[in-house]
Amino acid sequence: MEVPKNIVIIGAGIFGISTSIALAERYPCCQIHVIDRFEPPVPDATSVDTTRCIRFDYKDPVYSKLAAESLKKIENDPVLSKFFHKCGMSFVYNGKSDKWEDIFIKGRITAIEANENHPEKIVHFNSNTDVIQRIHGKDYIPKTPKELGRATWWNKGYCNLSNGFIDAEKSMKAYYQRAKAYTNVKFTFEEVSKIDYHTGTNKAKGVKLINGTLIESDLVIVAAGAWSGKLVDLRGVCSSSAIEVAWFKVSKEEQERWKNMSITTNLSTGINTFPPYEGEVKILRRSAGYKNTLNIKNPTPTDVKENEISISYPRTITTNPKDWIPEDAELALRENMKEIMPPLYKRPFDRTKLCWLTQTPTANFLIDNHPRLQNVVLATGGSAHAWKFVPIIGDKVVDFITGKLDPVLVDKWSWNEKIGIKQDNGSSPRMEGEAQEVSKVIRVSPSRNHKL
Ligand SMILES: Cc1cc2nc3c(=O)[nH]c(=O)nc-3n(C[C@H](O)[C@H](O)[C@H](O)COP(=O)(O)OP(=O)(O)OC[C@H]3O[C@@H](n4cnc5c(N)ncnc54)[C@H](O)[C@@H]3O)c2cc1C
Repeated sequence: MEVPKNIVIIGAGIFGISTSIALAERYPCCQIHVIDRFEPPVPDATSVDTTRCIRFDYKDPVYSKLAAESLKKIENDPVLSKFFHKCGMSFVYNGKSDKWEDIFIKGRITAIEANENHPEKIVHFNSNTDVIQRIHGKDYIPKTPKELGRATWWNKGYCNLSNGFIDAEKSMKAYYQRAKAYTNVKFTFEEVSKIDYHTGTNKAKGVKLINGTLIESDLVIVAAGAWSGKLVDLRGVCSSSAIEVAWFKVSKEEQERWKNMSITTNLSTGINTFPPYEGEVKILRRSAGYKNTLNIKNPTPTDVKENEISISYPRTITTNPKDWIPEDAELALRENMKEIMPPLYKRPFDRTKLCWLTQTPTANFLIDNHPRLQNVVLATGGSAHAWKFVPIIGDKVVDFITGKLDPVLVDKWSWNEKIGIKQDNGSSPRMEGEAQEVSKVIRVSPSRNHKL
């Protein structure tokens, strides 16, 4: 199938930018117009943060293979490789026989296979002491259950030394500059208010900006991440929610002390802790999260049952800069720090944020036509694990548009694959439970002049 001549991409996160580069490179005659609310790196986009993990340990071997391919591309990229820190990533759990153990065992198998001929790249942890000493060094004596006032949670695991983290903000800036260098890629920084349709049909003819401008195109690619549900009806296949992230300032001495630590993640408690980077330690939790419910006009233009639909829509640092993570989030982050990095347990956070994401029921991405719309392709549903695929995801979107995508991926990333599913596939494990309504639990930022 031919690619259309004029294409609008809504969103300059990893899905949008990577797709613009793949289209520009493969189809020089195609005109690509990327539209975002802000110039990249977009301050509240899911793709922009101090760090993102680049790992290939997946329960699903399909993602593991794609992630290993992506990692190789990042390491061989003269620009991106400068932002990649190969510090290793530890996957830990509490040692109980449950779904986390299953994810741990299957992830370790894919890691061992991908590190073939390099068994030294996998370090096994058989005890809480092994886990904690990987952070602090062999002389460190971990806290006992008596000192913690509970059983230990970080008990068993392994570290994959081939993984690492990337500076996601600097990388997105570099990707934007790369996309801008193509003469057939144009950027506009303005919010899209709606997709515009030929009168009386579900056939898109372009997009309308909030300033009223109509931008015509043959195809609209919706890559608007957690905001996508306002532009197209995604109920049942994608939902937006946020998870908590916090940063501690660390001293030079602490930075030195923890410089050899790996990203340390606990499947059972949902925690991800990063080694010190630019004077900070970042911690996040893959919690059940927070939602922000809004009633909006149904974005489908014709034949709708409800004129109004209810969605969760991002409430971020750009509109609510004083937001501070909820108390339950703070307590959970601190309780984990008490065990793994006690000096940070009671230290005030330097800053916090709720990071918005779009989640599919299976945690498989959504790269498909919208079933009720024409000329609209969806490239979203990152489900908290898509960043690492930035060097290849755009090519997959273009392969889908041109009918060349591997049928296994067509099926995995299809709309239909997500219908009626309640259980995710463990690609990006999240804590169980319902997302809480953010307006009920969000707090206001305290004074930021904390002393260490
Ligand atoms: C806390 C957290 C940790 C994560 N950790 C990892 C990790 O370690 N490794 C990993 O691989 N992945 C990770 N992820 C997932 C990864 O970051 C996301 O899957 C990915 O960045 C999503 O990219 P995107 O392009 O879909 O969305 P975004 O980056 O959010 O891009 C969407 C863009 O669309 C724009 N937009 C929205 N609406 C409109 C509109 N109406 N008009 C114009 N523009 C619009 C927005 O401004 C935004 O720039 C994590 C996610 C979170 C939340």
